[in-house]
This record gives sequence, C-alpha cells and structure tokens, in this order.
Amino acid sequence: MSTLNGSCLCGNVQYSTLAAPLVTAVCHCTDCQKQSGSAFSINVVVPAEGFEVEGLSLSSFASDGGSGMPVRRFFCGACGSALYSEVATMPGLFVIKAGTLSDPSVVQPAMHLWCRSAQPWVAIDRALPCFEQAPTD
Ligand SMILES: [Zn+2]
Ligand SMILES: [Zn+2]
Repeated sequence: MSTLNGSCLCGNVQYSTLAAPLVTAVCHCTDCQKQSGSAFSINVVVPAEGFEVEGLSLSSFASDGGSGMPVRRFFCGACGSALYSEVATMPGLFVIKAGTLSDPSVVQPAMHLWCRSAQPWVAIDRALPCFEQAPTD
C-alpha cells in the first residue's frame, strides 16, 4: 500500500495517510482563492481514519463554506502553507491541499467545483464534470 504524504513549505508540519484518496477535485471557490493566494485549490479527499499530522506550528481557521456549514482550514502557523481542511458537510473525511503533497503528480483531478467563480483566464478541462457550486449543495 502506498503512502500519501506531504508537508508545509517550512517543513514544520508533516502529514501522511495509508488510505487511498477517494476523489480529487479542483475548487474555484472564492474562499480557496483567498486562502491559497492562487486561482483555485486542488482538494484531495481522504478518510480521517489513518490520517496523521505532526507539527507544533499547526494552526486553523474556521469559516462558513458555500453550504453555510463550517469549514476548518488547517495551515502552518510558521510559514502559512494551507495543508488540509475539515468540512462539516463531509464528516469522517479530510481534504488535503494537493500542492503540499511530496508528489502532487500522483493525484488526478476528477472534477471542478465552484466553476461560477473560476477566473476567466483559467483553462478548465471540459472533459471533466464542472459544477457551478459544490455537487452536494
Ligand atoms: Zn510551515
Ligand atoms: Zn474551495
């Protein structure tokens, strides 16, 4: 079984899981744009069970997601890297930010979320499902 692991930019926070990712989705919501400082985030959904985090500098911030339910975003308090989120509408799961993986190329996006707030200069693969919001909303 392969391990999915990653870390923040400064290396103070590291995580790993033995579980295979359930799905990978590119999220174009405005919260992900704010938090990442980029046009979107690449979210890798994994089971909470078996997901392990180490690091004294882990911080978090909670806000209401598009569903009105809270999303708690975990990040490194030392370097600011966005690492993963806990989404109230998805109990038992964590959402890893793929850019923090040791090898982000191992995951393959299967869908795009919040396409209505996607930046006009981002090319979206139209062969993939592209939801205006999140499919569970
Ligand atoms: Zn860090
Ligand atoms: Zn988002």
